[in-house]
Amino acid sequence: MRMSKMHMKTLREVPNEAEISSHILLLRTGMIRKLVSGVYGFMPLGWRSVRKIEDIIRQEMDATGAQEIHMSAVQPAELWQESGRWFAYGPELWRLKDRNGRDFCLGPTHEEIFTDLIRNDVSSHRQLPLNLYQIQTKYRDEARPRFGLMRSREFIMKDAYSFDKDFEGLDKSYQDMYEAYEKIFTRCGLTFRPVEADTGAIGGSNSHEFTALSEVGESEIAYCEACQMAATVERAECKDAAASPAEEEMLPLEEVYTPGTKTIEEVAGFLNLPKEKTIKALLFVTYDEEGKENSYVAAFVRGDRELNMVKLVNALGIPEHAIEFADEEKMHEATGCVGGFTGPVGLHDCKIVVDSELPGLKNLCAGACKKDHHMINVNYGRDYKGDIVKDIKVLKAGDPCPICGAPVKHARGIEVGQVFKLGTKYSQSMNATYKDENQKEQLIVMGCYGIGVTRTLAAVVEQHHDDDGIIWPMSVAPYHVIVTLVNPKDEAQTAAAEQIYDALQKAGVEVLLDDRNERPGVKFKDADLLGIPVRITVGKRAPEGIVEYKLRREADKAEKNVEEAIADAIAIVNAEKYGM
Ligand code: ATP
Ligand code: MG
Repeated sequence: MRMSKMHMKTLREVPNEAEISSHILLLRTGMIRKLVSGVYGFMPLGWRSVRKIEDIIRQEMDATGAQEIHMSAVQPAELWQESGRWFAYGPELWRLKDRNGRDFCLGPTHEEIFTDLIRNDVSSHRQLPLNLYQIQTKYRDEARPRFGLMRSREFIMKDAYSFDKDFEGLDKSYQDMYEAYEKIFTRCGLTFRPVEADTGAIGGSNSHEFTALSEVGESEIAYCEACQMAATVERAECKDAAASPAEEEMLPLEEVYTPGTKTIEEVAGFLNLPKEKTIKALLFVTYDEEGKENSYVAAFVRGDRELNMVKLVNALGIPEHAIEFADEEKMHEATGCVGGFTGPVGLHDCKIVVDSELPGLKNLCAGACKKDHHMINVNYGRDYKGDIVKDIKVLKAGDPCPICGAPVKHARGIEVGQVFKLGTKYSQSMNATYKDENQKEQLIVMGCYGIGVTRTLAAVVEQHHDDDGIIWPMSVAPYHVIVTLVNPKDEAQTAAAEQIYDALQKAGVEVLLDDRNERPGVKFKDADLLGIPVRITVGKRAPEGIVEYKLRREADKAEKNVEEAIADAIAIVNAEKYGM
């Protein structure tokens, strides 16, 4: 491609709204263009990289025997009502009506559509197993679209769905996808870690997220260097603190005056107690399907712990959007709670969720549900009970690993893909069955597997850049080589540049020829910004047949004769273009 003809507009200024490198660089290179918040278009260079990622995905998916199809982005509400997700998916679901008032949504994911397809098309065990996938535009009306392609409202996803006769089959399908994902992200040049994950609004039993490690990532993961444990912090199990020794006697419950001590720090300081001897209260209100206030929830964890919202909603069996912090004054009338002084003793008409380690701990301090007062020597069983007792706390860095006990570490990353064992969640609610060898009706066992294609693009840039611009891995670079013609008015330079351009193209190399009438400084800056892996600069020494050869990822440059530069470029491109 001749850059003089290419539709490209790079920006000198860093756009205001862009905070992270990938967002800044994708906008500055002109690879993406914002239309409205969370909605982007792709310009020629950006689209080429998107297609390269898609091709890698296609090759690895096809290699597992999965088949590509393409379903509609517009989905009828009825299917979502059937699966129960018209409510469960919440306000992220982009809903619309047709002219007759019939409800639809723009697909954020396609479990319902694929389940519907398969229940209509598959009837016999002979048609299974099956894995169908698509690469398609998805819509999620995110509460906070940000970071460019990282969290957008319109994005490209690869989604695959496996259909098996039984759970053993699902295990195999899941493993095949897991391995394909490892290959895909490796080929894209990402440093990543598969971690155990929560199943969220998709549902099912097991799940792994593939996390590209990055300080700016929105996923927090907990991992252990002493064993194999790695999980999202949302999912990571916590080891409960050792129970109080049996010889520690339960002391009499006592109300104490603790004026103005609204926080755990304040009350622990005032009573001279370690925070581990206190109970922290968090108060919520939940909503029903019509959006009406439904019930109050009080969650209790040890004073030094943090509540894990994902574990809490899972314990309650409700979606995350159906719960929020309660208005304490309103909740006071109904339940007797008192802002800053709420404890489990004396609370009424509210669901009480108790973290699993509290029942084992004796003589704790908690709010007395009375202004400026706390209770001391609060004991589970004797003084209060939970409607639900479950692990609802966050596994913090330094906490003991739930598997081996070594201190865990935390890291941040970008969730680029996720795989789920759905089991029969959708086949049950939507009645997708097949007839087994004995003509008996059985539920189809499903898995689903997503990759954020456009988010992967952003993750690659996040991991591969420097102050001057992007440093594309060969496998997803929009072009492999850029030939910088320093002075297009110079005949010898032009002839040498054209010769290289031609020879590389004939060898199947994707080449950009910077033949623009720009100052050399502009061209060099743009070449670095665009991050094309190999740069061949044709300048003053062209009449002698000498050019400059440089890899974007290395600081050194070398002078080579034209033939050598061509041969070296072809060799490195062929060695690296598949990312394997
Ligand atoms: P997140 O937790 O980041 O909101 P998710 O777990 O809801 O994502 P999935 O339903 O697992 O996402 O979707 C599959 C993949 O689609 C994700 O792994 C991610 O790479 C991508 N993805 C999800 N939401 C977005 C978004 N808003 N913008 C870009 N990519 C997204
Ligand atoms: Mg996910």
